[in-house]
Amino acid sequence: MSFDTLGLREELVLGVKELGFENPTPIQSEAIPLLLEEQTDFVGLAQTGTGKTAAFGLPLLNSIDPTLSDTQGVIVCPTRELCLQIEKDLNNFAKKMPWLRVVSVYGGANISLQIKELRRGAHVIVATPGRFVDLISRGKARLEHVKVAVLDEADEMLNMGFKAELDAILEATPDHRSTWLFSATMPAEVKRISKNYMSNPKELSVGGVNETSNNISHEYYPIRERDRYEALKRVIDFQPNIYGVVFCRTRMETQEIADKLMRDGYSADSLHGDLSQAQRDSVMKSFRKRRIQVLVATDVAARGIDVSDLTHVIHYKLPDDPEVYTHRSGRTGRAGKKGISIAFITNKEQRRLNDIQRMVKAKFEEKEIPSIENICQNKLYSLVDDLKDVTVHDEEIDQYLGKVTEQLEELTREELIKKIVSKEFNHFLDYYRDARDISCTFKQLSKRSREDRGRTSSRKGMSRFFINAGHLDGLNKGALVRIICESSNMRGHLIGAIDIKSAYSFFEVEDASADQVTNTAKDYSFEGKSLRVEKAEGGSGSGDRRRGGGDRRGGGERRGGGDRRRGRSNFSGGDNFHDNGGGSRRFGNKRRSFKRSN
Ligand code: AMP
Repeated sequence: MSFDTLGLREELVLGVKELGFENPTPIQSEAIPLLLEEQTDFVGLAQTGTGKTAAFGLPLLNSIDPTLSDTQGVIVCPTRELCLQIEKDLNNFAKKMPWLRVVSVYGGANISLQIKELRRGAHVIVATPGRFVDLISRGKARLEHVKVAVLDEADEMLNMGFKAELDAILEATPDHRSTWLFSATMPAEVKRISKNYMSNPKELSVGGVNETSNNISHEYYPIRERDRYEALKRVIDFQPNIYGVVFCRTRMETQEIADKLMRDGYSADSLHGDLSQAQRDSVMKSFRKRRIQVLVATDVAARGIDVSDLTHVIHYKLPDDPEVYTHRSGRTGRAGKKGISIAFITNKEQRRLNDIQRMVKAKFEEKEIPSIENICQNKLYSLVDDLKDVTVHDEEIDQYLGKVTEQLEELTREELIKKIVSKEFNHFLDYYRDARDISCTFKQLSKRSREDRGRTSSRKGMSRFFINAGHLDGLNKGALVRIICESSNMRGHLIGAIDIKSAYSFFEVEDASADQVTNTAKDYSFEGKSLRVEKAEGGSGSGDRRRGGGDRRGGGERRGGGDRRRGRSNFSGGDNFHDNGGGSRRFGNKRRSFKRSN
């Protein structure tokens, strides 16, 4: 079914098409014709993510008479965010109806400005209950010409204690208006509203009450910030058949993560507002056809994704607004299928996670980043499945089979299986051979950050220095002692604690020798690369900042990625399979860019 056949006016059909909606969702295809045809009351059991906003928004907009400036439709919803979202959605649907005025009014914002907006005319008012009642009682919102009143997320509004307000709003609208109520659940209070204010409402349930949330398992992985990208890769590797969207917070981050994944041999691409419409269409086409397994997207760009069988939604970083989390997660677990929503959470993000858990009202399961052993095992079994699915073109292969069989004659069946499987799998094993264990719990994270803070302050009588080289440069404690002794012409026993990190390190020298290090800082070098040495001022504060800077700069991480990618590109097959040289070359470039960034 397409939007053309639902009975909507042309401007609205064009509007949704421009948004990238190709086909109506189930609730849209059932509700829209019904609400267009009959002046009826309606109860829709549906959650966020089902497309319910368009299901009520399009027929509501369709019913607006442009020759009248009165308010003809009202939509009441629980939160300011949802209000703004609905206002935005309606304006988007009605792009080709420039005469239409939608005004949203909600608590916590300047009421005089809202009154001014209402005075200019509002065909549709989108409102939170408390503010709406306030405006109605001041005579600023006139509802006597309202044809349709929509209650969106009615159960949520009642949970929030807006029972009296909903009654007051409905009382203020004409008796002959239609009431369309949307709710994820049907508690007694919602039933009471439908009984008191509706006559013979048509009922529609999209996949059963609360089905969306039941279909989605919410999982989170505690991580250290520096491991975020590595964690993403491991989670993807653990699910070889993943078909999902990775949500990032900014366009830049989206592009960066997509680029890294592609470089690292994953079947991925990006979708964000900096791409042209043609580029976006082409990415979506590939994603829909499953030529891309992982789509990295911003929240805004992902709004038009109409793919119903995503296995995973991954929150590379959590959104600030819990509502956005719901929107993101609602992209999976659709059409009766199970879906998994995964978030990576640092210590600092725990509070945001708690806010989201409260709002989503679902149990979130804490998981550990999959072990290398488990990742490899899954990969191996998936390789075997792929092997079983390989299409064989008998007529073309048969002519070579005799000679091939002869070549393989001395191998037993078992040896042959091992060799075929190992051909791909060895690359994967190589890639993960030296991989670190990055799984952790929040308890470990907070212990670690306490220890780190302790370590960043220098001990009494010692001065602490930062140096921009670490494990990833091949630096170890012995090498660092040698560098300090040679460059600063110092005896080893004057050097105190050494802390080698991935892309940078700290070392202490006795206060009396600190100037010696400062004065010779420009002479520090390691394997031909000149190094930057700086005094790590004061105690934990500066030490923390310096550490953060190291992580953000991400030189080590990027170089690490380059190194690992070299392995990864080996096993990823296709063009990359033969790309050893390319991998090494890119690794070389990374070193240069690291130098530049310092
Ligand atoms: P809602 O349930 O109204 O909050 O919609 C959930 C998401 O699905 C929103 O991001 C909408 O923009 C998107 N959406 C709604 N209808 C469609 C459609 N027919 N095709 C594609 N995306 C849609």
